[in-house]
Amino acid sequence: MKYDYLIVGAGLYGAVFAWEAKKRGKTCLVVEKRDHIAGNIYCEEMDGIQVHRYGAHIFHTSDKRVWEYVNQFAEFNHYINSPVARYKGELYNLPFNMNTFSKMWGIATPGEAQAIIASQIADLHITEPKNLEEQALSLVGRDVYEKLIKGYTEKQWGRDCKDLPAFIIKRLPLRFTYDNNYFNDRYQGIPMGGYTKMVDKLLEGTQVRLNTDYFACRKELDALAEKVVYTGMIDRFYDYSLGVLEYRSVRFETEKLEMENYQGNAVVNYTEREVPYTRIIEHKHFEFGKQPVTIISREYSSEWKKGDEPYYPVNDAKNNALYEEYREMADKEKRVIFGGRLGNYRYYDMDKVIAAALEMCDRELA
Ligand code: FAD
Ligand code: UDP
Repeated sequence: MKYDYLIVGAGLYGAVFAWEAKKRGKTCLVVEKRDHIAGNIYCEEMDGIQVHRYGAHIFHTSDKRVWEYVNQFAEFNHYINSPVARYKGELYNLPFNMNTFSKMWGIATPGEAQAIIASQIADLHITEPKNLEEQALSLVGRDVYEKLIKGYTEKQWGRDCKDLPAFIIKRLPLRFTYDNNYFNDRYQGIPMGGYTKMVDKLLEGTQVRLNTDYFACRKELDALAEKVVYTGMIDRFYDYSLGVLEYRSVRFETEKLEMENYQGNAVVNYTEREVPYTRIIEHKHFEFGKQPVTIISREYSSEWKKGDEPYYPVNDAKNNALYEEYREMADKEKRVIFGGRLGNYRYYDMDKVIAAALEMCDRELA
């Protein structure tokens, strides 16, 4: 065998594995079907601006080990994500906090906000929220749900809020303080010079073959290495033999504008149903850019079908049950490790992907 590991996918999981393996004297070959490294955190420079081609990526974590880890490969700026929600021309701060409530109801204190929320849900008697709608209503009341959650969520997931799991909305902080930081995490920022540079460093000294789909030459590739680290879709690995897992896909419409500042913020969410896109990203604001032009991306969410890019796993009960069946098969594999967002069918943030890869390396490469 020529290599110790064949790594399928040059995304964050594959790149961390490659770095750790190299550090321990192992050899890896990375194959990547796209024409670039870095998976979904890929950034390309346009007019001096780092454009997040597969959607806005803000690094945030409370895991000190992960934070120190990524800081070996990049210097992070002091960006704090504070998106704005736009509903029929009205602007609200996110996540849901006293700025949001004050604008919504013209009130000033946490006590007033809590009283309004309580009065809006008193008749619902929700004790244990069964779905996203009940979860959202019980947390923020009817007005915030109707204006800032319902339309956005149904566009994003293509499903009624009653048919979605409650945990999705619990990703967002809810605060009764005037604090617009979208995350509660201890550490946050964007790598200066973009994510691609960071992944490039992780892959330093490892051979990478771009434009190579594992399934187009599986036999030849398998023959090159002792083991396989697979970060593609788990159902595809088994030729969808148990059924097809569902994903949400996203289409980005990216446009260069001859102006310095289009929307005054990196992220503006369009929360009403009638606007077809979910949000507009203005990339330069992630890095406090001063260029005379700007680049924006409108994000359109859609149902995934074979051949599309899978972005978000749909972790509802039906899909999770199917995933478990695939996982049982995967657990029996002696020479294949499944990792990352697609291999584990999980809505992982970057820090969780890194933590999972490091844990795997501790076990596998000990
Ligand atoms: P990927 O980046 O998907 O990498 C997998 C790679 O494998 C891909 O490059 C793919 O082309 C390749 N591959 C697949 N199949 C094959 C094959 N058959 N042969 C060869 N190569 C193959 N996380 C955050 O922490 N903060 C954020 O703000 C954030 N925003 C996000 C926004 C969007 C729109 C999305 C979709 C995700 C966001 N995430 C965010 C999550 C983040 O993108 C992931 O945690 C991370 O990129 C996952 O890395 P990965 O290596 O598991 O997967
Ligand atoms: N969400 C919402 N309104 C918003 C922003 C988010 O209702 O303005 C909901 C929506 O259901 C979304 C979830 O909160 O799927 C999690 O949002 P997050 O920003 O974490 O989504 P991501 O950045 O991963 O797309």
